[in-house]
Amino acid sequence: MSLHRPESLDAALALMRAPGAVVLAGGTDLYPALRDGPPPGEMVDLTRVAGLRGVTSGPEGWRIGAATTWSELLRADLPPLFDGLRAAAREVGSVQIQNAGTVAGNLCNASPAADGVPALLALDAEVALQSETGTRRLPLDAFITGPRATALRPGEIVTAVHVPAAEGRGAFRKLGARRYLVISIAMVAATVETEAGRIARARIAVGACSPAARRLPDLESVLSGKRLSDVPEIAQDYPFPELAPIGDVRAPAAYRDEAVRILVTRTLVDAMAEEAAHVA
Ligand SMILES: Cc1cc2nc3c(=O)[nH]c(=O)nc-3n(C[C@H](O)[C@H](O)[C@H](O)COP(=O)(O)OP(=O)(O)OC[C@H]3O[C@@H](n4cnc5c(N)ncnc54)[C@H](O)[C@@H]3O)c2cc1C
Repeated sequence: MSLHRPESLDAALALMRAPGAVVLAGGTDLYPALRDGPPPGEMVDLTRVAGLRGVTSGPEGWRIGAATTWSELLRADLPPLFDGLRAAAREVGSVQIQNAGTVAGNLCNASPAADGVPALLALDAEVALQSETGTRRLPLDAFITGPRATALRPGEIVTAVHVPAAEGRGAFRKLGARRYLVISIAMVAATVETEAGRIARARIAVGACSPAARRLPDLESVLSGKRLSDVPEIAQDYPFPELAPIGDVRAPAAYRDEAVRILVTRTLVDAMAEEAAHVA
C-alpha cells in the first residue's frame, strides 16, 4: 500500500488515475474499515491539498471545502441557518474525531447514521465533484444512493459542499442510547423560515430510519402556513411514507417510529425558538 500526500488538486487527481486508488481525509472512517478487507493499493491523502479547507461565502451561498474538519466548521462564522449543522458537528464522535474527521468524509462514507447528512439535506446542499476529465455538481440526495453507496465515479474527488443562500434558523436532534459517542437511533434536522409567527418554509430530514437519510417533502408542505402549536398533532398523525425504520441492536422499529414523531416536534421547537418563547 502506498500513501501519497499531494499538495495540489491536479496532483491528487492524477494520483487518483491508479486503479483502486482511494481518497484519505481524516481517516476516521477509512482506517477502522481497513480491518474488514485487503488494504487499497494507493491512498491519496487530501489534508495538504491547497484550497480544500475552510468555509467561504458569497451572494449565492456558502462553500464548505471538502477537507474542512468538523472542528473547523464549528469555528466558522455562520448564520443561524447553520445551527442544525453546527449541532450535528458537535455530535460527531468526540472532539478528537471532530478535529480529524471531515464534512465530505462523512458524506462519502454514506452511513445511514451519519450525523452530517440530515443537517446538510435540510440545507439543500449540493456536492461538487472533480476528476481529470471534468467537474459536476449533484444534490446531496442524488449523491448518496444507498447505505454506504454514493454516485462517486472512479477517479473523482469531492472538492466542496455548497449550501445555497437562504433565510431561517436550523436545528438538529440526535437520539442515542447514551449522551456522547453514540450511533444514532434516530435523528432529525430542520431549517425553518417564519412569517408572522407561522411556518413559511420548513425543510426537514430524518436519519437512521431508512437506508439513506431522507427529506420529508409532504410533511414540509403540510406544515407550510401552520403555527408551532399545530406541529405536535401534525407530527403524530403524519404517516412518514419516506421512512422505513428497522429494528436492530440499538432499538426496535416501533420505537424509532415513535421517536421520530417526537424528534420532529422538538427540532421544530428549537428552530422556531422565538415563536416557542411566545407559546410557552
Ligand atoms: C470513534 C468514532 C466515533 C464516530 N462517531 C461518529 C458520530 O457520532 N457521527 C458520525 O456521523 N460519524 C461518526 N464517526 C465517523 C467519522 O468520524 C465521520 O463520518 C467523519 O466525518 C469521516 O470523515 P473523515 O475525514 O475521517 O473520512 P475518511 O475516513 O478519511 O474517509 C471516509 C470515506 O470517504 C472517502 N472520502 C473522504 N473524503 C473524500 C473526498 N473529498 N472525495 C472523495 N472521497 C472521499 C474515503 O475514501 C472513505 O471511503 C465516528 C468515527 C469514529 C472512529
